[in-house]
Amino acid sequence: MNSLTHQVPHKGSRLVGTPARQPDLAAQNTSLRQKLDSLMAEARTNERKLRRFEGLELNLISLSSLSDVVKALIYPDPSFHWDVVTLTLLDPEYEIRRMLEEEGVVLADHPSLVFCDSLNELTSVYPHSLFPTLGAYRPAKHNSLFPGTRMRPGSVALLPLVRYGKLIGSLNIGSADAERFNKSVRTDFHEHFAAIVAICIENASNVQRLKRQGLTDTLTAINNRRFFDQRLKEEMDVARRSLTPLSCMLLDVDHFKRVNDTYGHQVGDQVLREVAALIRAQLRGSDVLSRYGGEEFAAVLAKTESATAAEVAERIRRNIADHAFALPNGEHFHVTISIGVATYLPTDADRDVKPSGEALVGQADRCLYDAKGSGRNRVVCQN
Ligand code: GH3
Ligand code: MG
Ligand code: MG
Repeated sequence: MNSLTHQVPHKGSRLVGTPARQPDLAAQNTSLRQKLDSLMAEARTNERKLRRFEGLELNLISLSSLSDVVKALIYPDPSFHWDVVTLTLLDPEYEIRRMLEEEGVVLADHPSLVFCDSLNELTSVYPHSLFPTLGAYRPAKHNSLFPGTRMRPGSVALLPLVRYGKLIGSLNIGSADAERFNKSVRTDFHEHFAAIVAICIENASNVQRLKRQGLTDTLTAINNRRFFDQRLKEEMDVARRSLTPLSCMLLDVDHFKRVNDTYGHQVGDQVLREVAALIRAQLRGSDVLSRYGGEEFAAVLAKTESATAAEVAERIRRNIADHAFALPNGEHFHVTISIGVATYLPTDADRDVKPSGEALVGQADRCLYDAKGSGRNRVVCQN
């Protein structure tokens, strides 16, 4: 305290030899004011930045579909003034790509969405730490994050997307301004934002994964009856509007109870898996196949007339009859399948009446019943 007192003039008093310092004080005052103004301006800028990030974060949190989350990221609000944004997602098993396609996303329409198959591609971008990296754009290092983008950024902000300590992707922001993202820019907004982005992507993927699981049969890995009923309705509508034939098949393994009784239910399960794969192998990718019930399968073949459907069914029947199913002890056995086929031939009159998918399945079921009654291991078509 004492050491300061002699330097602090009392009100009205004057220190000897100080008049010459008055202009210095004025200059200091101006300089402090300028500093204060610039700090205030920075605070206001940061406040605006914070609000913008908060707005985007709240929007992301409100979205439930993966495609919406991805689009909100690669097409951000122009107020961010991000000249180029790309999103790199680690997708070694093509699962995210499949999920987005199932949501109707045409991947080729979104070149800013980048997928990488191995973690190595991503870790090379963040070799030292999983924190946002701001700095000059380095083509050799950053090229793969901005493939095919029209402009080459001057500076970049690369935000690692991390869940449970593991990299799941990277949000890559580029600016034409070489000074926009430099090491002196504070990164706490980016860090917070990256954490929210990673959570939103993971959450939306999980929701989509659950939806898929709800439509898949766990034993045979083909679709379940719920999915079939949904798709049959859609396909009937398409057929009605485009006046194209649509065929439906019901397939039931013959004397399957005997397989269980003779070899045990685990062998029975394996037979169901193999039968599902044998049927799938004879269908087109666009045909819908599902496990309709215990040892019963159903298929919808769009744009397929009765004769073609009968040929496909006959091929399936023969392939299954010829297939040697293996027992754990190495021995083999055979099973057969019966198939009922019905075809919907829309007419102009149907344009106003919605045809029922259940009626078509009902016809196929009656054919299946006839196939069983007339000796099994056969195909019966309507008419
Ligand atoms: P049919 O030729 O008349 O169709 O005779 P079937 O024995 O195939 O028909 P039935 O309806 O009498 O028996 C079907 C059997 O399929 C009974 C059921 O226990 C068995 N099953 C249903 N689902 C499964 C499954 O997931 N795994 C196994 N191992 N068996 C199943
Ligand atoms: Mg059966
Ligand atoms: Mg049955």
